[in-house]
Amino acid sequence: AKAAGRNTYHFFQPIFADQASQRLELELALREAMERQELSLYYQPKVTASDHAFLGFEALLRWNRGEQGFVPPDRFVPVAEDCGLIGQIGGWVLAEACAQIARWHRAGHGWRKIAINVSVRQLVHDDLAGMIRIECERQGISPTLLEVEVTESCVMANPGQTSPILAALRAMGVTVAIDDFGTGHSSLSYLRRLPVDVIKIDRSFVHEAVEDAGAEAIVKTIVNLSKTLGMGVVAEGVETLEQAEMLARMECDVLQGYCFARPMPGDEIERLWRENDAT
Ligand code: C2E
Ligand code: CA
Ligand code: CA
Ligand code: CA
Repeated sequence: AKAAGRNTYHFFQPIFADQASQRLELELALREAMERQELSLYYQPKVTASDHAFLGFEALLRWNRGEQGFVPPDRFVPVAEDCGLIGQIGGWVLAEACAQIARWHRAGHGWRKIAINVSVRQLVHDDLAGMIRIECERQGISPTLLEVEVTESCVMANPGQTSPILAALRAMGVTVAIDDFGTGHSSLSYLRRLPVDVIKIDRSFVHEAVEDAGAEAIVKTIVNLSKTLGMGVVAEGVETLEQAEMLARMECDVLQGYCFARPMPGDEIERLWRENDAT
């Protein structure tokens, strides 16, 4: 397994057989990854349903382990959360996203909004509002250019604790999005009281909705509900034109997915802008 792991080009292969050793190995490598600058951010556009113009971007962590290829975030983010590294990594993500906003602006592409993913640990244990204030000042950008994505399960695990934190972020002008909406167990009546600007419909519903009437009804309900509550709504994981058209018919205004663009480095986004000024 070890030899195979080293020779595999693009995908991470565990070097150790058992799960505990794998996690430990990943944790140790992750600590070094920070110093070796193996982490980077890719950016995936969010587009308008009407004309597919770029509205903003979601920053997604990438870890390039060199020889061993890219480690998927679904694999290393949970490790970082467990071993306490997520605070440091999340701080880096925030700083890098703010720096990217400033770089795009300096390069003449205007003020572009970036959403960062935030773990529950970061939300509850770190002074996220203070960190955002400092980074925005350092880069000379407005906090209104930042969005924070927190998963539904993260917010709902302890709404009494998370709500005031989200409210404080909103008070500074940061927008708040609920990620993976529909997969958790929020009571819809509670949603009304949450300090949230945007709901992101989980991609599992988006994928199923074109074939399954039940999933379609769920998507439609979430779109209508968010509008009734005065919130924005984004469908994630849109892969086909059929899905995009269905969502446009439901008046879901913002779409995100491989159908429009994959996550890519910041300079590739700039290349797209240069090729097509409409976006
Ligand atoms: P997420 O926040 O739900 O991010 C969306 C994921 O869907 C991303 O996976 C993205 O690349 C992928 N995606 C985008 N469009 C499509 C599509 O059309 N079809 C399909 N099948 N997938 C699509 P990725 O980049 O592998 O990230 C996975 C998860 O890792 C994220 O899920 C998020 O929970 C976590 N993550 C990523 N970056 C960060 C970060 O900076 N901080 C924290 N705390 N978590 C992060
Ligand atoms: Ca997200
Ligand atoms: Ca999501
Ligand atoms: Ca997810």
